Amino acid sequence: MDTPTRTTTSLRPGTAPEWILDPSGSTDREQRAGGRPPRPRRRLFRLLVVLLMLVTIGAGAAAAVVTAAIAARPDYPDTVVSGGTDAGSAVARGGGRPTAEDGYIADGDSLAVSDAAPAVARLDPALREALQQAHAAAAEDGVDLRVGGGWRSKAYQAWLLRDAVRTYGSAAEAARWVGTPETSLHVKGQAVDVSPYDAADWLNRHGAQFGLCRTYDNEAWHFELSPSAVDAGCPPMFRDPTEDPRMQG
Ligand SMILES: [Zn+2]
Repeated sequence: MDTPTRTTTSLRPGTAPEWILDPSGSTDREQRAGGRPPRPRRRLFRLLVVLLMLVTIGAGAAAAVVTAAIAARPDYPDTVVSGGTDAGSAVARGGGRPTAEDGYIADGDSLAVSDAAPAVARLDPALREALQQAHAAAAEDGVDLRVGGGWRSKAYQAWLLRDAVRTYGSAAEAARWVGTPETSLHVKGQAVDVSPYDAADWLNRHGAQFGLCRTYDNEAWHFELSPSAVDAGCPPMFRDPTEDPRMQG
């Protein structure tokens, strides 16, 4: 470390030692080679410049903290998913919340299995057909089988994942409930969340004859098409999505 060699610095109340204001100590020393004493007003000016710099740095740091805090909010559109069918959606453009065009269905809402909304209409046709057959059979038992979640845009899935990380507190725990835009079977149109609960319970008991199987032990509402189930019954469930090799992408 460079230690100032000047030993004659005079300290007066209200002034800072010159080597604090001018750490290099060189330029002014050369300029003042004639022995001219530093003018107090000049010192005051340099002190003000240093103070102004400190205030500016402080304000910049505060602004950075606020910016980071806003970006950390899961519902802030910081992850923009582009390409494919998502490019035109509001949430993909960073415009906020997903819409019906993203396949959005609000919590507690549901759609008919024949609804024209993208959440249902963009499901894999074979899955939709099986759902409609199951709906008709469930109706005979007095159960109204509906869709609480269906096809989703990648942007909507990313939005859900951010929300889940906020809800569950970590990415690892969120992964037990919500897939990524790349892995989710909902984004591929190959999964449906059945609503209400009694309909999911009905489908859990009767779904195999339509090729509709529950996939995860921790998600009573999530069903996928498994055509072989019609003859062989549904395959064993995974405990949760983290055990599903398809979710490892
Ligand atoms: Zn699901």
